[in-house]
Parts: sequence; C-alpha cells; structure tokens
Amino acid sequence: MHGTHERHDPARSDDSGFRMPGLWRRTLGELTVSYLPDAGVAMIPDRLYPSSTDEEWGHHSTHVTGAGHLSMGCGALLVERGDTRLLIDAGHGRISGDEVEHFQHAFGHVQDLPASLAALGVDPAELEMVAFTHFHGDHTGWARPDAVDDPRSLFTRARWMVGEGELESIAPGSAPVLAGQSERTVAVADRTEIADGIRAWSLPGHTPGHTAWILDTGDGREVVAFGDALHSPVQVAHPDWEVLLDTERDEAERSRRRLIDYLERDGVYGFGVHFADQQLGTVDSGRWRPWNDATDAR
Ligand SMILES: [Zn+2]
Ligand SMILES: [Zn+2]
Repeated sequence: MHGTHERHDPARSDDSGFRMPGLWRRTLGELTVSYLPDAGVAMIPDRLYPSSTDEEWGHHSTHVTGAGHLSMGCGALLVERGDTRLLIDAGHGRISGDEVEHFQHAFGHVQDLPASLAALGVDPAELEMVAFTHFHGDHTGWARPDAVDDPRSLFTRARWMVGEGELESIAPGSAPVLAGQSERTVAVADRTEIADGIRAWSLPGHTPGHTAWILDTGDGREVVAFGDALHSPVQVAHPDWEVLLDTERDEAERSRRRLIDYLERDGVYGFGVHFADQQLGTVDSGRWRPWNDATDAR
C-alpha cells in the first residue's frame, strides 16, 4: 500500500522482530485510553544515548531486538472520559519510511493513524481538541498544514492545545507547525485543566514547552502521557543519560527525574508513546514495570 517503505521493512532487515505496538485500548475507571499506531522506528541505541555504554546495555537486553536496535512506536493516544474525547499528539504523518536519520535504522508500518482512527469508529473531523506534548514532527504529523490535501489537516475543526513555552520556542516569522496555527492554537499554562480530569504538566527540556498531560481516572488513579520526557523504558534506570534529541539537556534531566519520582507514586501510570510494546506501565523500584492485565486492571 505504501510502496517504497518495503525496502526498509524491518521484518527483512531485523529478523528478531520489531516489537511495534498495534492498536490497543484500556479502561481505567472513567478513563479509556487507546493507542493509535502510525509508525514505528528502530533506533540505534548508542547514537540516541551517546553517553550510554555497552556494559549498561548488557543489563537491558530485553529492550533491544536481536539485531541490537531499540524499537519505538510513533502514534497518538485517544482519550475518552465522560463527554470528552480528545487526542494527545497526532502521529508521524507523511513519511515514506525511507528517510532515516543517522540515529535511526529503519521505519515500519508508516501512516497508519487514519486507519487506526477508523478502526475505532472515530471521525477525525468530529474531534474538538488535540493536545500536543511538543512540536516535533513525530508528534504533529497529521495536524500539520501539509498533512493531507485539506489545508485544515486531518482534524478539520480541532483546537490545538499546546504548552505555552512551546509556542514561544518558534522563531517569529517561521512557517507554522500546525494547520491554522495562529487561529486554532490555545497556549496552555502549567497545571491548567483543559477538560474535566485532564490537565497540563510542564516538563521542559526535550523542547522548551514540552508538556505532559495528566489524565484522572476518577477512581484515585492517574495516567501521565509524558511525550518525549522519556523515549524508552531503559531511561527509568538511567535518567542521567544524555539524549541526542533533547534541546536543553540539564533541564531535560531534571524533568526526567521529576517524572520518574511521580510515576513511582501508588496508582500513577505512565504512557510512553515511544515505549515499543511497553507503552503503558509504572515505575517500581527504579524500573519500568509494564501494565499487567492480571494485576493492574480493576
Ligand atoms: Zn520529540
Ligand atoms: Zn518523539
């Protein structure tokens, strides 16, 4: 269907398996979250984390494929709570799967998000809000001005909820990141509730206005959709590792440590969009513990 990405089909280039998550859906109390896959990328671990060592990776072999790559999902999280239905981030959008950067090995199943929405019976034109963690291309994909033929993007009427520092990071006069950006964007201050039980948490460093979204389950639990404050479960044990993609590295490390502390609280779960097949989980004894239907569902 998407022709040219066959050449980088990870099933051919990495026979250990790609571990890219498919569509999944979980209900916690009044909250239902669904992961909408769009793309997957196999990363080269020591290029993404330049200060990590082979010895350290030896302790995290379960997180890398047999070919030595770190798998990352790219997509969006559909949030449904009461009368609210919104998306957190907007996937990778228009990539062919061929355009790897030096820290990437290959892309997989690109441009799935519209089909993922359709599979859940969600019409993107009916969504009233998309909340962004930050403005990187793998999070804004289907909301960009060139996402689809319609200049309003796939989400023709949504307001764009964006951490206020993120807007300030864009140079004046530069091309808009989002479709209809100046009319449709709402700058959201730290701790602001954008809908019942959904509030912003400023976690800067990866980008200047990087923002997590805290989702209240209504039964005493929370899910924190933390964007790129962490890119892989391995970082929970290594918050000191520099991340190639972080804009301000000291500030990013402080945010990572705040996030990890928060995820260690009882009843707090995290959603890491890039966390391969362990996207939903919590921090337990300084490690990422993936969601377990047998013990976490109630
Ligand atoms: Zn990013
Ligand atoms: Zn990202």
